[in-house]
Amino acid sequence: MTLLRFKMVDAALNHRAVDVAAPEGRPSDYFGEKVFNRKAMRKYLNKQTYEALVDTIENGTPLTREVADGIASGMRQWALEHGADHYTHWFQPLTGGTAEKHDAFAEPDGKGGVLEEFSGKLLIQQEPDASSFPNGGIRNTFEARGYSAWDPTSPAFIVDTTLCIPTVFIAYTGEALDYKTPLLRSISAVDKAATEVCRYFDKNVNRVISYLGWEQEYFLVDESLWAARPDLVLTGRTLMGHESAKNQQLEDHYFGAIPLRVIAFMKDLEYECLKLGIPVKTRHNEVAPNQFELAPVYEEVNLANDHNQLLMTVMDKVSRRHHFRVLLHEKPFKGVNGSGKHNNWSLGTDTGVNLLGPGRTTMENLQFITFLVNVVSAVYKHNGLLKASVMSATNAHRLGAHEAPPAIISTFLGAQVSAVLDKIEESRSDEVIRFDAKSVFKMSGISRIPSLFLDNTDRNRTSPFAFTGNRFEFRAVGSSDNCAEAMIVLNSAVASELTEFKREVDMRIEAGAKKEKAIYEVLKNMIKACKPIRFDGNGYSDEWKEEAARRGLDCETVTPVIFKRYLDPETVKMFGDLGIYTEVELEARTEVKWETYVKKIQIEARVLGDLAMNHIVPIASKYESVLLDKAYKLKELGMPSTSDIELIKRIQDHTAAIQQMTIDMIEARKVANKIESMYEKAMAYHDTVEVYFEKIRKHIDRLEEVVDDQLWTLPKYRELLFIK
Ligand code: ADP
Ligand code: MG
Repeated sequence: MTLLRFKMVDAALNHRAVDVAAPEGRPSDYFGEKVFNRKAMRKYLNKQTYEALVDTIENGTPLTREVADGIASGMRQWALEHGADHYTHWFQPLTGGTAEKHDAFAEPDGKGGVLEEFSGKLLIQQEPDASSFPNGGIRNTFEARGYSAWDPTSPAFIVDTTLCIPTVFIAYTGEALDYKTPLLRSISAVDKAATEVCRYFDKNVNRVISYLGWEQEYFLVDESLWAARPDLVLTGRTLMGHESAKNQQLEDHYFGAIPLRVIAFMKDLEYECLKLGIPVKTRHNEVAPNQFELAPVYEEVNLANDHNQLLMTVMDKVSRRHHFRVLLHEKPFKGVNGSGKHNNWSLGTDTGVNLLGPGRTTMENLQFITFLVNVVSAVYKHNGLLKASVMSATNAHRLGAHEAPPAIISTFLGAQVSAVLDKIEESRSDEVIRFDAKSVFKMSGISRIPSLFLDNTDRNRTSPFAFTGNRFEFRAVGSSDNCAEAMIVLNSAVASELTEFKREVDMRIEAGAKKEKAIYEVLKNMIKACKPIRFDGNGYSDEWKEEAARRGLDCETVTPVIFKRYLDPETVKMFGDLGIYTEVELEARTEVKWETYVKKIQIEARVLGDLAMNHIVPIASKYESVLLDKAYKLKELGMPSTSDIELIKRIQDHTAAIQQMTIDMIEARKVANKIESMYEKAMAYHDTVEVYFEKIRKHIDRLEEVVDDQLWTLPKYRELLFIK
């Protein structure tokens, strides 16, 4: 009988690139064809309804019931004509991923037939059975009433035959139960605070938009091999596996030729994305074998985030057509680079100015420096919270390991910008610094500043929060994360900082200072105060960890403890003042984080225990008995058998250790499960359960090295990691 592993390796080798029909027409022909965008709205809504909807989208004007009915009817017609037969409110619960409950458009008409129904009421608000979504105790199950409400700023779209309507998800008592609600709140907060600051420089600014351009990293594995790895199927990562002899040392994968099967998958995926209005642009291999990246052109944060959520679902669907599985776990393979999601973030005005890009005039450059310094200062004050926003049981494997940003948030600004800030900091109180095109500084009174060019090649790949010429790149976000969480904290921290900045500047102006001078003075103080967050060196080095601790940056590495930053008094105050989270919401969310952490570790512990006891130990024992038989016979013949006996002993030691530790781990889990407090439980899982993972794995990986390959049931790294 052939082992399942070999059958699956065989199947994997026989998977060829799937023929994907070339899209009809050019991207401009099919881009957004599955989206109820402005073009579709104009066609399917009457003029009045269309204008009312645009007014809602752009200015937040409430919709009347009548207008809502008009929109619903147009949307339904569009959806039916584009092949949809169901609709759903699409939302982003705290479990991660997206949730949907499909309802058919067709409703019995009471006369034995059906009618396609979809009213404004159904479009605007629904009550999904919310009891099964995490709420951190906000709603008890017996009063599980929450509702989903339409977010008109993100257009509806069709996936397969379902019209998906982006919605927020809120408890009846008003608390947010999702990611979108606080994200929208943070978008308005930063808009309000930034617009006011912009008015120092340009009175025509009425709105500031936050932008996000995510870069999504992921792994592909062959579906057959994936299916034969229960750990990948159930936890998204390999809990065991001896490193392949060849892995990423040669770095021959990065920017190398993309394998044909993968190219076919990517083309298919990009086509699906473009139809859904996701402006995908770049694709390339990543550092690790089988690792790839996809990035779109940046968009307004809320839309960009919906697109990223949608992408993750679409990716999974498309991958199956190509006999692949997408791994979004941050660390699917030990010894191989993990995956992240770089969040490129910036602020821009409705007049078309990028506030994080250098300008052409004196005032534009002072504005640029103002926003840059405010961001750096916000990151400094909330560095622990920013870390909490990207921390999770899965991302913990990546942050702090030697290939990814460390579990310490710092900012990289590059030589030129650093020089500008240093100059400002060192300037005398009666000076105002100017800088010219080649960043040569001039000390003078108030006069012109020619354009400031930033050298984009000045980069530091090891920084978790890097300035890259016209935006910041937050690189510590996990590949499976909902980007919203990081964006909520960033937008909020920056909004809070800008508000404080404006207060300080206004105070000085009221005391008689000139505007430019007042701004300059406040910036100077901020630059001094937030200096510890600036670090341009190697973020992966051990020296940095020591230095960061000396600087007072948050160096906590224990995941459940890191979550506590959400409950710090300064965090609660900041979110409360801005109206983003109430204390109750923060408590609930932290509770959900601890609970999710516990569940993830619990599942991994179970899977590891199962595999150890019913795959690894039996196989090793089988091989051991073959060796025992051989040794016994050799002895009977009077032939030497020392090396066989040695091997038997080693196998015996490893299996005994695995068995004992698995029993101990189960015991630790039982103890942890009895703990009431979710935080204490998470800590128990961290301190007493997870600690076994690496230890057990070590013995298993040693066994994989010595046990007969013909007996080994689990596909090995060398098979999983190299797509042919
Ligand atoms: P990298 O060199 O880091 O791979 P890319 O040029 O591929 O960078 O861009 C990465 C992402 O940054 C893309 O999604 C891009 O649209 C986005 N981006 C570019 N400019 C901005 C900006 N001003 N604000 C936000 N995102 C931006
Ligand atoms: Mg990048």
